[in-house]
Amino acid sequence: MEKGPKFIGRAYGEEELAQAEKSLERWAKESAAPVEGEEEKTEEDHAYIDKANDLLRRRLANLGIPYTPIPSEKIHMLSAEAYEKRLGNSVDHGFASAFDDAIFVNKNKHHGGADLLDTLIHEMTHRASKHRFFGSEEHGTVPARIGYQLASPWKEPEGRAALTGFNEIVTEYMAVRILEATKEELEQELGIANKDIEGFQYGYAQYNDVFSKIVRGVAATKGISVREVMDDFERGQFAESLFSLKAIEATFGKSSLRVLACLGVLRDSAEREKVDVLVERYFSSDNQDEKVNLQKEVRSSFEEAWHTQMAQGEEGNS
Ligand SMILES: [Zn+2]
Repeated sequence: MEKGPKFIGRAYGEEELAQAEKSLERWAKESAAPVEGEEEKTEEDHAYIDKANDLLRRRLANLGIPYTPIPSEKIHMLSAEAYEKRLGNSVDHGFASAFDDAIFVNKNKHHGGADLLDTLIHEMTHRASKHRFFGSEEHGTVPARIGYQLASPWKEPEGRAALTGFNEIVTEYMAVRILEATKEELEQELGIANKDIEGFQYGYAQYNDVFSKIVRGVAATKGISVREVMDDFERGQFAESLFSLKAIEATFGKSSLRVLACLGVLRDSAEREKVDVLVERYFSSDNQDEKVNLQKEVRSSFEEAWHTQMAQGEEGNS
């Protein structure tokens, strides 16, 4: 099913590649075992996991993409305390680990209902998206691609991942669209009220404006509907090539992907918001001179904050 090399970033020997792939397979098997602080799943948890797997499978089938459901043992429901201990942060709702093909849910962050189902679909989407790795003696095995999120640890420090914000917003939009399209069924089967889905406060809503500008702009350039652009972006998370991003450059200019790359990457929320506002202004502007200036401003603010972050040794992503 999987096409293309799993490991990128340098030339690998045949034997070493076989070893690296074997390690991934082993970790994927081991991640089915319960982890420290894991809570036993309730009947409701199981119903939600089954539903999330089924909804994602159906959506991906519409997009022409095969889906392998994640077994429930590989989804670990943790208390906030256990989650923080394991993943080093207490604010995120969930995390999909590319190495061991597992999902961790910060259970205390949820009140069941639309909220929990959204997190499950969101993390399952990250898990199902295209993954690439980089391996070396110095780095061990590190992710090089998760959906749209790209890291080049062979030339840049580990953890510096381009397009993090864009990857998150596409993933979250996809999850929310799935919930909206199936709300009648969710009310009947899981008792989730329609109004909980209609008024749902989804994650990454701060990127609404920039994302809708990108989608509308691309739709106008390509002469297709907003919905078709969304489908293309959703599909792109799972595609071998990043061709779906070309339309962004064609619409907003050559430097636009370098600008978009900085969205949502920084760990410090104040620094991240500062860069995010500049990125949004870039995508809102029709003035070429202003765009050139904003591009420089985005890059310099980003670089400065990144170096501060590195000096403080902060790490991690969700
Ligand atoms: Zn995410």
